[in-house]
Amino acid sequence: MEAGFADIEENIKRIRENVCEAALKSGRSPDDIRIMAVTKTVPFERVNFAASRGLTLLGENRVQEFLQKKEHYVKNAEVHFIGHLQSNKIKYIIDSVEMIESVDSVKLGEEISRKSGKIGRTMDILCEVNVGGEESKSGFSPEEVTEAVGRLAELPGIRVRGLMTIPPPAAEVGSLYFEKMQRIFEDTAARKIPGTDFDTLSMGMSADYAEAVRFGSTLVRIGSGLFGARNYPV
Ligand SMILES: *Cc1c(COP(=O)(O)O)cnc(C)c1O
Repeated sequence: MEAGFADIEENIKRIRENVCEAALKSGRSPDDIRIMAVTKTVPFERVNFAASRGLTLLGENRVQEFLQKKEHYVKNAEVHFIGHLQSNKIKYIIDSVEMIESVDSVKLGEEISRKSGKIGRTMDILCEVNVGGEESKSGFSPEEVTEAVGRLAELPGIRVRGLMTIPPPAAEVGSLYFEKMQRIFEDTAARKIPGTDFDTLSMGMSADYAEAVRFGSTLVRIGSGLFGARNYPV
C-alpha cells in the first residue's frame, strides 16, 4: 500500500526516533547518522514531501527512472546512486549525483574516473561489499576490499568515502554481517590510504536499520519503511 503524506510524516518521525534511540544506546551521537530516502517506484511528489520534512538525501536505483524524476525534485536534494550501474550509463548521472555508493568493480571505478575527469569534478564513491557472499548480489568480497579500495583510490577524479553493503536479512542471520562490516570498515579506515576519506558506512534498510546503527552505520537507506510497500519488485 502506498503511503499518504500523513503516513510518510508519521514514518519519518518513527524512523528518526528509532535511529536516535539506537545511536544513544550504543554510545553514538544521532547526528552522525544520515537517513536516506530510497525513491525507487515512488512518485516525485512523495519524495519531495519527505524532503520538505528534512529528508533531502535521496537514493536512486535506476538511471532511467532517475532521469525522468530529477527535474521535478526539490532543488536542495542531494542524490546518491545506489543501484547496479552499467558503465555505459555513467554519463547520464555523472553531473547530477553527489555520490555513487554502488561501485562493485575496479573497472566501473575506472570508467567513473574517466567520466568525472571529463567534466572536471571529483566523484565521491563507496565500495560495495557483498559481505554475505551471495550469488545474487554484486560487490567485492570481504577479502577483496582492501586491495580494491587501494586501486580505486589511485584513480584521479574519485574520492573513496567508505563502504556500502546489502547484507543477508538480519531477521535470518542476526547481526553477524553488520559486525563483520563494522570490522572491515574500521580496519580499512585505519589504513588511511591516500585518496580515501573514510567517513561513510552505508548499511541498514527498513527492516534492520536500528541494528545497523548499533554496528556503526553512518547512513541508513530507507524505502518501504518510509513510503510504504512497493507494488512491484525492483
Ligand atoms: C530498495 C533499496 C533499499 C531500501 O530498501 P527497503 O527495504 O525498502 O527500505 C536500500 N538500499 C538499496 C540498495 C535498495 O535497492
